[in-house]
Amino acid sequence: MKNFCVRRIVVIGAGAAGCFCAILLKRRFPQVQVQLLEAGPAPMQKLALTGGGRCNLTNSFAFLKSVDEAYPRGATLMRRALQVFGPERTLDWFGAEGVRFTLQEDGCYFPQSQDAGQIVRVLSRAMERSGVEVRLRSAVRRLEALPEGGFRISGDAFSVDADRVVVTAGGSVRRDFLSFLEPLGLEIVPPVPSLFTFNVAEAPLRALSGAVVEEARLSMPGTRFSASGILLLTHWGFSGPAALKLSSYAARWLSECGYRTPLCVNWLNVSQQECRAMLEALQSAYPQKSCSNARIEALPHRLWDALLGYAGIGVQKRWKELGASALNRLCLVLTDFSCAMAGKYPHREEFVTCGGVALSEVSARSLEAQRFPGLYFAGEVLDIDAITGGFNLQAAWTTAYIVAMSLKID
Ligand SMILES: Cc1cc2nc3c(=O)[nH]c(=O)nc-3n(C[C@H](O)[C@H](O)[C@H](O)COP(=O)(O)OP(=O)(O)OC[C@H]3O[C@@H](n4cnc5c(N)ncnc54)[C@H](O)[C@@H]3O)c2cc1C
Repeated sequence: MKNFCVRRIVVIGAGAAGCFCAILLKRRFPQVQVQLLEAGPAPMQKLALTGGGRCNLTNSFAFLKSVDEAYPRGATLMRRALQVFGPERTLDWFGAEGVRFTLQEDGCYFPQSQDAGQIVRVLSRAMERSGVEVRLRSAVRRLEALPEGGFRISGDAFSVDADRVVVTAGGSVRRDFLSFLEPLGLEIVPPVPSLFTFNVAEAPLRALSGAVVEEARLSMPGTRFSASGILLLTHWGFSGPAALKLSSYAARWLSECGYRTPLCVNWLNVSQQECRAMLEALQSAYPQKSCSNARIEALPHRLWDALLGYAGIGVQKRWKELGASALNRLCLVLTDFSCAMAGKYPHREEFVTCGGVALSEVSARSLEAQRFPGLYFAGEVLDIDAITGGFNLQAAWTTAYIVAMSLKID
C-alpha cells in the first residue's frame, strides 16, 4: 500500500506534544494535510493519567531560582524556548479553549475540574474541528529521507510519504523504542529512567515510615548531586520532592552505578554552624528538659528521637547533661547523616525518560534536524526532561509550539 501527496505533514505520536503540534500546524496551514500517526489504540493515553488523573499541566516557575533547576537535561534550550511559549501562554491557550485553572501553593497548575480527561477532550475537539487526520494503531517502524526530498514513513501495513515530519514519539527506556529513526543515523542519547524514589538500606529509618521532613537536603557524597525540599520517609526508603528531584538530577549517574550509592541527609538543610547554634539555643533555653521533649520543632518527634539514638544520646537525657562531644555528634547526625541507596522504586505511576534524540542534532531555534531539513522533533523524544511539577508537560507544549511556528512549507 502506498500514498503520496506533496502537501502533507506527518506527526508521529499522538501524545501531548503531537496533538498540540498537529492542531497548531493545521490552524496555521489549513490547506495542508496534517496526519497524526499513533501506535496505540487512542490518542493521549498518557496525558489522561498525568498528575494522578488531575493533569499538572504547567507550573508558575515562581519557586525556581533558574530554569536549570527544573530541567536537568535541556535547560539551555528551554530557557530560550520558554520565552517564546511559557506557562502564561500555555494557560492563555487552554483558557481560550474553555479550561479554567487552579494554582496550588507549590506553583503547580491543574485544571479546575481536577480531571486530566478534560485536557484530552479539549485537544481532541480542537483536532477534530481543525481537521487533523488521526490514524490509530499505526506504529511507525521506519523513517527515511528520500533522495528527491521529503520522507517515507512506514509501518507494518502502511507507507506514507510526507514533505515534513514531526517526531513526537515521547520517551521510553525500551532499547528498540527509537529504532524507527535508525535509517537517519541520528545521535540518540541512551534512555534511562528518571523520577523514582529511593530504596534505603537502613532498617531503623524504615520504622519511621510516614514521617515528613519539611526541608531536608539529600546528597550523594563525592558527586555534585544534591536536592532539597520535603522528604518523606516510607517503608522502603525516601520519597517526596527532595528524593524525586535528586533522582532526576542524578538519573544517568545512578543508572551507571546500578542504583547503589552512599547517601547523605541534612535533615534541616542548614550548615553545621547553624545547627550547632540551634542546639546550643535549646540547651540554654531548656536545661532541665529531656532532649526528647525539647527538640527542633521542624523535625517530627519520632524522627528526632531516632536521631538522638543515632547520636548515642538517650531520650531521657537532659539538655544540661550534654557535653561538647555529644552536641557535636548530634550536630553531625542532623546535618551529615549517612545511609545508602540500595535500589529504586517507582513514584506512583509517573516517570520520564532521561535521554532521547541528542539536542546537537536539532536547531535550538526551530527544533529542525540539522542534517535533515523538513524533519522536526518535539516533546520527550528529545533529550529534555524535568523534575515533577508540570515542567515535563510544559516542555511538551513549548517544543510543540516552536515546531509548529517555525515549520516552513515553501
Ligand atoms: C503516569 C504519568 C504521570 C505524569 N504526570 C505528569 C504531570 O502531571 N505533569 C507533567 O508535567 N508531566 C507528567 N508526566 C510526564 C508527561 O506525561 C510526559 O513528559 C509527556 O506526556 C510527554 O509528552 P510527549 O507528547 O512528548 O510524549 P507522550 O505523551 O508519551 O506521547 C508519545 C506518543 O507517541 C506514540 N508513539 C511512540 N512511538 C511511536 C511510533 N513508533 N509510532 C507511532 N506512535 C508512536 C505513543 O504511543 C504516545 O502516544 C507524567 C508521566 C506519567 C507516565
